[in-house]
Amino acid sequence: MTEHKKKVPVAGQADLSTANPTREQAEEAVRTLIRWAGDDPDREGLIDTPSRVARAYEEFFAGYQDDPSDILRRTFEETDGYDEMVLLRDIRLESHCEHHMVPIIGKAHVAYLPGNRVVGISKLARVVEIYSRRLQIQEKLTAQIANCIQEELHPRGVAVVIEAAHQCMTTRGVRKPGVTMVTSRMLGAFRDDPTTRREFMALISSPATGLANH
Ligand SMILES: [Zn+2]
Repeated sequence: MTEHKKKVPVAGQADLSTANPTREQAEEAVRTLIRWAGDDPDREGLIDTPSRVARAYEEFFAGYQDDPSDILRRTFEETDGYDEMVLLRDIRLESHCEHHMVPIIGKAHVAYLPGNRVVGISKLARVVEIYSRRLQIQEKLTAQIANCIQEELHPRGVAVVIEAAHQCMTTRGVRKPGVTMVTSRMLGAFRDDPTTRREFMALISSPATGLANH
């Protein structure tokens, strides 16, 4: 987790409140947590765990290094008059809750009504991925995805629905497995036009077609 941080610590003058921790410090922090949990970080099975955890964090939190707006700036303007809803549904979503740093696993549905710009659908999935790979709460994640699409594409409307299970709720605390949280953010026509909103809700709740399995 070094490339994207702007502050570079000065040797011998590290101010822990602002300095960018080194890989070594991150691994030492994992060793501390292992000891705190009651185990021995020097035993054989755990000896490489701190470096594995650091590498896993680089993946889990890779989203801090990317700007989702950049992804959407490469748009296709020639729509041949296509002005109906574009919907990407059942996008796999993996994030981490910012309160407990444990996984949030679910799916996202993203739709927009093009103005005069459309974007490759893989780009919408990338936007979901970039915001997901940060410490999040589901409400903020949902709003960030919708707002980013609104600001970059200027569509006539954006809808984002996320359904997800929070491991901080399923494996600890109140321990309620099977519970999912649903959040939505509707902008433009999806907020103002009940017909558009209904069409979107019907599309995301209809069973997947056979085509979707291939
Ligand atoms: Zn949590």
